[in-house]
Amino acid sequence: MLEQAGFRHPRDLLHHLPHSYEDRRRVAAISSLEGPGAVALHGRLLGVRRIFTRRRGLRIVQGTLDDGDGKLPVVWFNQPYLAAHVSEATEYILYGVVRERGEGLELVNPTLEKARDAVSSGRIVPVYPAIGGLGPKLVRRLIAGLLSTIDLDEWLPEPLPRDLLERYELPLLSDSMRELHGPSGAFEVEDLNRGNTPYHQRLVYSELLELRLQVEESRSTRRSSHKTHHYSASAEVLSTFTARLPFTLTAAQDRVLDEILTDLRSDLPMQRLLQGDVGSGKTVVAIHALLLGLESGLQGALMAPTELLAEQHFASLRRLIPERYRVGLFTSSSGGDIRSLASGEVHLAVGTHALIQETVQFARLGLAVIDEQQRFGVEQRRELIRKGTRPDLLVMSATPIPRSLALTAYGDLDLSVIDELPPGRRTIRTSVLPSSRRLAVYRALRKRLAAGGQAYVVLPFIEASVAVEAASLEKEGHEAMHLLAVSCEEMHGGMGPEERSRAMRRFVAGEVQVLVATTVIEVGVDVPSVTYIVIESAERFGLAQLHQLRGRVGRGSEQSYCVALHGPLTEDGQARLKAFSETTDGFKIAEADLRIRGPGDLLGGRQAGLSTLRYANLGRDLKWLERATRDAKKLYARSPHTLFGG
Ligand code: ADP
Ligand code: MG
Repeated sequence: MLEQAGFRHPRDLLHHLPHSYEDRRRVAAISSLEGPGAVALHGRLLGVRRIFTRRRGLRIVQGTLDDGDGKLPVVWFNQPYLAAHVSEATEYILYGVVRERGEGLELVNPTLEKARDAVSSGRIVPVYPAIGGLGPKLVRRLIAGLLSTIDLDEWLPEPLPRDLLERYELPLLSDSMRELHGPSGAFEVEDLNRGNTPYHQRLVYSELLELRLQVEESRSTRRSSHKTHHYSASAEVLSTFTARLPFTLTAAQDRVLDEILTDLRSDLPMQRLLQGDVGSGKTVVAIHALLLGLESGLQGALMAPTELLAEQHFASLRRLIPERYRVGLFTSSSGGDIRSLASGEVHLAVGTHALIQETVQFARLGLAVIDEQQRFGVEQRRELIRKGTRPDLLVMSATPIPRSLALTAYGDLDLSVIDELPPGRRTIRTSVLPSSRRLAVYRALRKRLAAGGQAYVVLPFIEASVAVEAASLEKEGHEAMHLLAVSCEEMHGGMGPEERSRAMRRFVAGEVQVLVATTVIEVGVDVPSVTYIVIESAERFGLAQLHQLRGRVGRGSEQSYCVALHGPLTEDGQARLKAFSETTDGFKIAEADLRIRGPGDLLGGRQAGLSTLRYANLGRDLKWLERATRDAKKLYARSPHTLFGG
């Protein structure tokens, strides 16, 4: 079972750390309990039985703990098997949380252990995550057994240089593991549980340092391979293009464009991340760069995560790029002219994942652009690069993340940031309301739309289902259409490209006032005239996703409005919607997201390195990340291959 779970060597078990600790150093007497809190108790369990409830999915087991001196009600939720396994004749050690109930106290969801073989009482006990079918207790026994038979110092030689350990006053790896698997009591249980000990910090730091060293390594490989193409066109061609735009570039757009052009003219392939909040105008920057390539006789590629977005880019490129250049659309539903792309007759390929299929080839790919990069994995990024000979790469993302986090997540990329919105934009007014207010919301919207204007209504599902309590296009979507009583179009992933682009064209032209859609419109869709968005079952969406959805409005100079309707909320859900209503600043949204959910969600969880982080929490450990980044640079320069076995 261990092997199946990816454990290859007993040493791997040492890296399976407890997720929490229980303080079982003192076994309390029931009669001495004064109020709520975590306790260890010792006694017999009487009258343990299942209670039947009407609430589906809720199973309760109740009983009474008798320690000879007092009695205390005990309750377990959703552990029905307990009732059959507890025997009244046996003495147990129970560990759990006491809470107030009515006049008295009760013990909730305690873990229990037969007092006779209670190896874990009288000390701070580590609680491990299960490993496959091996439960937490068995894992604890396994690890305790392993630790009692091996010499940790021999098994875990110290990989970090002394001077670094000393600089941050960090303990040895072997000492850290010893303490974390079997706390000596030198640190409080709360600190252990919060990961707030030098032992934890040591693991965090060495993990981040290793990650940063890999980044240094890949950077140095990159510095040794030159490009085979170059950009012969002068920047003049771009100024003609810029002059024909209906707006002037913001200072931030000018600055990042400069950074990109400098990269393009350098001998080394560009690998740059262009970051900018929703609506900050990344597309037009990318088009400039692509155009420089076309004018230099090179092909370009622009890859987007959804067909809808690819189709939109295709339409705007055809409008903006001089007619002498052929633009091709490559999606799985539209196919695409693969032959003309391979021969070089198609100059610019716009598409979805379809672009990285094996059959797709370029004659002379100069610049590859990936839009909404957080939706793609690192592997897909590589596959697109492989379509050319060391082409330049520009990836774009609307997820503004703290700089230091970006360093880790996209460590091998250089970073450009558009930190300013085009002038004249107004803050989107956001309200978060329970779905019981739907009717009122749509009535108000109907009034507004009667006077003109356009709206999106977004739903998490296409079809209604009895299993999930959430709004669907089929039910709430159609109800909304009925309530709004204006011209509406539907938009969802199940539609063909023809149907989709017809609907989109009508919406863009203003023939249709409302687009009732699933999250296919989440990223990139740009119709500046739309000023209302209603998001149904908003609790179903992550914070970054809500921010993206809201970013579909507020793209012009008109005041825009967003209403998020929600069903029953979890604690997290509440925190998300609160943050959502409080700010429209993508940077603050990202920070809140990082706090609530950790970095996985923010980055799509698929970025190199991040998914493999086991100790570091980038919401909490940014300070260590900065140190690791700095130290890795120096270490790598000193001797690239000595640490962590090279
Ligand atoms: P995003 O960064 O979210 O991809 P887009 O590139 O879709 O943003 O741009 C958002 C909108 O802002 C588009 O309608 C675009 O034409 C417009 N836009 C871009 N740059 C400027 C600018 N400098 N001034 C005014 N509008 C701009
Ligand atoms: Mg965009």
